[in-house]
Amino acid sequence: MPELPEVETIVRGLRRRVLHKKIKSVKVSFAKIVSPPRGLDFLVGDNLARLDRQGKYIKISTQKGARLVVHLRMTGQLFLAANYRPDKHVHIVMEFAGAAEKLYYRDIRKFGRWIVVPPRKNFADYINAGTDALSLKLLDFAKLVQKNKNKALKVFLLDQTILAGVGNIYADETAFRLKLDPHTPVGKIPPQKLLSAVVAVLKLGIKNKGTSVSDYITSSGARGNFQNLLNVYKQKNCRRCGAPIQRVQLAGRTTHICPQCQPKFTL
Ligand SMILES: [Zn+2]
Repeated sequence: MPELPEVETIVRGLRRRVLHKKIKSVKVSFAKIVSPPRGLDFLVGDNLARLDRQGKYIKISTQKGARLVVHLRMTGQLFLAANYRPDKHVHIVMEFAGAAEKLYYRDIRKFGRWIVVPPRKNFADYINAGTDALSLKLLDFAKLVQKNKNKALKVFLLDQTILAGVGNIYADETAFRLKLDPHTPVGKIPPQKLLSAVVAVLKLGIKNKGTSVSDYITSSGARGNFQNLLNVYKQKNCRRCGAPIQRVQLAGRTTHICPQCQPKFTL
């Protein structure tokens, strides 16, 4: 599932290439991708005025005031291409005036959504997420840690309503960076140290254009590079010390731990 660095990479790429372009046509071939199910013809003639991100959500605003929230969920891909022949997994195609490149939304499992935000509603009504992990202020973060002090580190990091954007990959890599067992209660970790680690790991992910371990590709259809730098996530051996990586279930997710670099938490 694309996490904050993957979505940020996509948004940056799209901003560079389609922002302020006029929409010439939008073809939706699987109506249920759009919520409520409908076509997107109302976008024709309008242009993309803003592209933003909050956690794993993309916020689109047009010049005439239409707003959409795009959530890629499990296997959603959003990319631009000039000479691409869509396969059966492409559900939305957007054409721009005077541009050879079209925007494709491809989604094998079809769990992703393009949510149309009605005029009197806010983006926040359609985004079930807290403050973006990269926008958190230390003081607010410290309060969140205090409020959730007994939660295991990994559970805390994955809870999108606490901080938005961290998923399984970056949660495991953050625990590794902290040299902590992901079962450690967050209250035991100095908030400043924890926030710095989260931000450092996410920024490293963005710098490397995200992690391509499953379906994720950038907005130009390329793979990310962060999969080559992972220390524990889906690794056989720890990149730092070579010890075999342990896999345990935590927060309902497969969690990767180096038993040497991340000593078991004991009270
Ligand atoms: Zn290790």
